[in-house]
Formats: sequence, structure tokens, C-alpha cells
Amino acid sequence: MSKVVVITGASSGIGEATAKLLAEQGNQIVLGARRADRLEKIVKDIKNVGGQAVYSETDVTNLDSVNGLAQKALDAFGRIDVWMNGAGLMPQSPFSEGRVKDWNMMIDVNIKGVLNGIDSSLSIMRKQGIGQYINIASIAAHLTHVNGGVYSATKAAVLMISDALRQEEAAAKSGIRVTVVSPGAVNTELVANMTDPEVKKGTEEFYKNYAISPERIAKAIVEAINLPEDTSINEIVIRPTNQIA
Ligand code: NDP
Repeated sequence: MSKVVVITGASSGIGEATAKLLAEQGNQIVLGARRADRLEKIVKDIKNVGGQAVYSETDVTNLDSVNGLAQKALDAFGRIDVWMNGAGLMPQSPFSEGRVKDWNMMIDVNIKGVLNGIDSSLSIMRKQGIGQYINIASIAAHLTHVNGGVYSATKAAVLMISDALRQEEAAAKSGIRVTVVSPGAVNTELVANMTDPEVKKGTEEFYKNYAISPERIAKAIVEAINLPEDTSINEIVIRPTNQIA
């Protein structure tokens, strides 16, 4: 069955790969991110191979902007079957550097962005009696390491928010599924956007050795979406086979 899927963080990496794979399978895709030029190009790519997609320039830290993305889905396709909270940033650094701006950015995008996504779409899914959230956390939600304190905290928050939402929707028998995806190292623009030069260098080295393509994560997400509605994959932990932690 074809679904209307809204994806934040759709302008690159895991969001882009998921949008393209879902579109290939006949779903209707609504892409959100800040870089409109990138979104426009992805929509064009999807349409060129016979798929259906629209986009809305979206800043997930701004609730009005995220509401605009939800409205775009309703205007274009009349419903929202899946909402993927994919937008995220990972500017890791040691606390001693005091990169408070980066900490706040991670909290705003990685946590508040997910909450804004939930608020923009939950009442719509409740009315439909069907829906699904795909919230992108990380293996960093399950462990932390030097330089990774704030990033891990934001991703652990995604895990907790998602499971409370799952429990509430199960209790309400709303028909809404919740799936958290916790990837290991994936080759995207995440590392290129890190701000601490030393930490970035070390992470680049690690990713060069281990990272898998975002298409691998997209495949797992699509499996969770395509399961029968009475069954939920609640968390996917997905790493490169050789990645230890
Ligand atoms: P990318 O950097 O390629 O993608 C991040 C996406 O988030 C971009 O589309 C970016 O779009 C969007 N974004 C960032 N800030 C905002 C904002 N304020 N409003 C709207 N969109 C925003 O990296 P990934 O694909 O890897 O990241 C996707 C998710 O996967 C993130 O949540 C990340 O934390 C998570 N993850 C990634 C891993 C990896 O190894 N790559 C591992 C574990 C988790 P734009 O700049 O156009 O707004």
C-alpha cells in the first residue's frame, strides 16, 4: 500500500536515501530541511524516475516551520502515514572547550526538532487511526565516550521520548507505531559538519575505516514501514559489521 511519508533531514545522507528508496516503491514523499536547492534537486530526481514528491523548506527548531511541513503533506497528498524525524547534527567536542553554541544547537535540532515533529503530526495521525514515527537516534544513545557527552545525551533523549510515545499510543490503541533507528557509522555529511577540527579529524579517520552507505540504513527503515500495521519494530540498532562500538 502506498504511504505518505514526511522526512525531516531529507536534503542529504540517511534522509535523502530513505526518501529515494520509498519513492521508488511508490510512496508519496514530503521532504523537509533548510537547503531548499538540495530538496528541489532530490524532488526532481524522484520525479524523473516516475516517483511522487514535494518539499517544504523547513527548520526543525521552529515549530511554525515544522507545522508548515505537515501542512504541505496534507495539501499535496491529504494525509500523513509516516513521519521520519531525521534531522540531526553531531558537532562533538570536549566540555573544556566550552562550545556552548554547539551544545545548544544539538539540543535544539536533535531533541526539540523531534518534539516539534511529533507535535506537528500526532493529532493528524490520531484522527486517521493510523501512523508511524521513525525517529533517528544513534548507537550514541546507548553509549558515550570522550567528546560525545552532549550528542549522546540528545540521542538518549530521542530514545526515551520515542518509548514514552510508543507506550502512550499503545495504551490509547491509536494505531500509531513508533520505531527508533540507532545507526553506527554511516557515510553522510554528518562528519563534514563537525566544528572542532581535532575531533573532526579523528572521526573522519574512523569513518574512513568503518562507515557504510546511507542506503543500508534506508533499507532497514523501509522494512520497518512495510511490516503489517499490527506489528512494530520498535528499535533498529544497525552498525557496520566490523564496528566494535
Ligand atoms: P547529514 O548531515 O547528511 O544529514 C543531516 C540532515 O539534517 C540534513 O538533511 C540537514 O539538512 C538536516 N538538518 C540539520 N539541521 C536542521 C534544521 N535545523 N532543520 C532542518 N533540517 C536540519 O547526516 P545523516 O544523514 O548522517 O544524519 C541523519 C540523522 O542520522 C541525524 O539525526 C544523525 O544524528 C543520525 N545519525 C547519523 C549517523 C552517521 O554516522 N551518519 C550515525 C547515527 C545517527 P539542512 O542542512 O539542509 O537543513
